[in-house]
Amino acid sequence: MNSSVTGRNEVGRSEVGRIEVITGPMFSGKSEELIRRLKRARIARQRVVCFKPDIDLRYHRTAIASHSAQTHEAMTVANVARLREALYEQLPEVEVIGIDEAQFFDESIVHLVGELVHMGKRILIAGLDTTFTGDPFGPIPALMAISDEVTKLSAVCIVCGAPAIHTQRLGASRELVVVGAAGVYEARCRACFRPYLNAPENEQMELPDALDLSVTP
Ligand SMILES: [Zn+2]
Repeated sequence: MNSSVTGRNEVGRSEVGRIEVITGPMFSGKSEELIRRLKRARIARQRVVCFKPDIDLRYHRTAIASHSAQTHEAMTVANVARLREALYEQLPEVEVIGIDEAQFFDESIVHLVGELVHMGKRILIAGLDTTFTGDPFGPIPALMAISDEVTKLSAVCIVCGAPAIHTQRLGASRELVVVGAAGVYEARCRACFRPYLNAPENEQMELPDALDLSVTP
């Protein structure tokens, strides 16, 4: 193969990059799917690197881990600038770039991913599409917009068993980012999701059933 030292496209070369976003709520198997794709790329003898933000201290600092205990080596980086530095050192050799928990990076990740795909890289991005209040999460919506393919996974609603698109926060933590898994968050479907269950400002917070349209006489 053409061994350009820059890894950049040159006139006449037909390296075409690709952006794939794997998204959905917690417990939907995003990391597992990312790991599966990275493993396949490795089996195909492609050079793979994977990054994740510093915030995820859930399991290992040097691996991504799915809730089902699959792991894959990943470099922990503090922010997008550090990710860029770490990546550009090895960029010519790298063909596939995985980014896990991408919702915790700032918007500058969108520009970086745009650069990388222009160089012919395949970028696999996993991250939550919405926060525990049900709002779009960080750069994920923009990454979905510029991607070639979005895989939106669902989990299983803990309350009713329907496909779940939401991440429900349990307990009353005020932390914007509580890192953890079972016990703090659970998957909920749209009907069972209670985004304001633990709003810190007041004690209330279970909204009257949002979908209860019954009229009291
Ligand atoms: Zn439900």
